[in-house]
Amino acid sequence: MQKKRIVLTFPSSLVDQPITYHLVKDYNLMINILSAKVTPREEGKLVIEVSGKKKFIDEGIQYLSNLGVNIQPLAKDITWHKEKCTHCTACITICPSGALALDRKEMLISFIKDRCIACELCIPACPYEAINIQF
Ligand code: SF4
Ligand code: SF4
Repeated sequence: MQKKRIVLTFPSSLVDQPITYHLVKDYNLMINILSAKVTPREEGKLVIEVSGKKKFIDEGIQYLSNLGVNIQPLAKDITWHKEKCTHCTACITICPSGALALDRKEMLISFIKDRCIACELCIPACPYEAINIQF
């Protein structure tokens, strides 16, 4: 059993397609939707965690790619720039996953990438542009 967090960007023609349903039904995968921004007639963006056998994950990703879905690993997307961070803590209450964590003793922020669901809420919240995302 493997787990993979991926970002799917798909064109408007695929926005109303039951893509995740096919991943579950045809490739025996478990899908956990971490973040979704889907607007009818516009581009859609889904952040999902896929669990299943490696072979099925690879086949499922190939199926998405053949459909025209752009696929990127989630790990690349959010970057915390430690050198820009002033540890002002403005992002702490905003982060829903605990990826931006505060050491209350030292009053220092850290970024725990594995917890990040790329919701992007912290980006406008940071006054020092210490966090950015690249899709
Ligand atoms: S994008 Fe920012 S707010 Fe969202 S989970 Fe990741 S670190 Fe937290
Ligand atoms: S809002 Fe920006 S500067 Fe403030 S603690 Fe968070 S990452 Fe650091």
